Amino acid sequence: MKLSEQLKIDRPMLSFEVFPPKTEARFEPIMEAVKGIAKLNPAYMSVTYGAGGGTSQYTVDIAKKIKAMNVTPLAHLTCVSSDQATIHSQLSALKAAGIENILALRGDLPKDYVPGEYRHASELIDEIHHFDADFCIGGACYPEGHPESARQKDDIGHLKEKVDRGCEFLTTQMFFDNDLFYNFMYKIREAGINVPIVAGIMPVTNAAQISRIVDLSGAFMPQSFLNIVDHFRDDPASIYEAGIAYATEQIVDLFANGINHVHVYSMNKPDVAAAIQNNLKSILKK
Ligand code: FAD
Repeated sequence: MKLSEQLKIDRPMLSFEVFPPKTEARFEPIMEAVKGIAKLNPAYMSVTYGAGGGTSQYTVDIAKKIKAMNVTPLAHLTCVSSDQATIHSQLSALKAAGIENILALRGDLPKDYVPGEYRHASELIDEIHHFDADFCIGGACYPEGHPESARQKDDIGHLKEKVDRGCEFLTTQMFFDNDLFYNFMYKIREAGINVPIVAGIMPVTNAAQISRIVDLSGAFMPQSFLNIVDHFRDDPASIYEAGIAYATEQIVDLFANGINHVHVYSMNKPDVAAAIQNNLKSILKK
């Protein structure tokens, strides 16, 4: 099913993210995790894409297996380290596998970056459209602004460009403070961005994740969240429980404020996905 259709359904729903292995030896263990998450019957499952080759070959394979398990797959695709031939071959593989949904991304700039054929996600959106207008295309957005944008206003302007070029839905970068997200929603709607927004929530289940998250996303950590990490830092079972409780609370607040589509950065952890879903079972049934 195309996500442009699925996201028209206006009731609380969860989707989950998985990432492909770096080596073939890890493929089967990761597929076990993918199967565990697919069993939860989420609205859809996204599969990330390793920029610049590496893991990229497995994105289509995993998306195909998700589809075979009767869950809608969303395949990520990045462009900044690619050329047109690579993008076309990836799109052909997705088409042949019957994958309808693509999250079109620029990818992070490599350290030795020299501008190539694609500089922004909007150019990938054009490329996908020209290749086959039947793909349903989504994009990324940043409630706290993309780290490279000096002003959020500019970032929102570029976001509008992605939507004008055919991006049919947007998934947010992870955030830990819902108020930042609500503020962002107000600003993008005011800027005329009216496509469905899927809120990205990351359950933090161990203290080591925190510095990685800050490095990767620059996300603001509210004091209440930092207190949890500080207090339970040396107690893995408690931080796991508290991280799931914090993410659940964020999601309940989102649903209560009419944000019905939440994407959980479940990081190949079926236990985490199941715990969140179980915490919300009455809400999700409605
Ligand atoms: P863009 O939309 O191109 O924006 C990047 C920056 O360029 C922004 O600052 C924007 O304001 C600016 N910009 C855009 N257009 C213009 C323009 N015309 N002129 C000047 N500036 C412009 N990375 C992976 O490698 N694999 C993944 O699978 C992956 N999945 C992700 C999923 C989500 C939901 C999110 C939020 C991020 C994901 N990323 C992934 C990370 C992403 O690749 C990086 O955040 C990257 O730095 C930006 O990608 P983008 O598609 O948002 O880029």
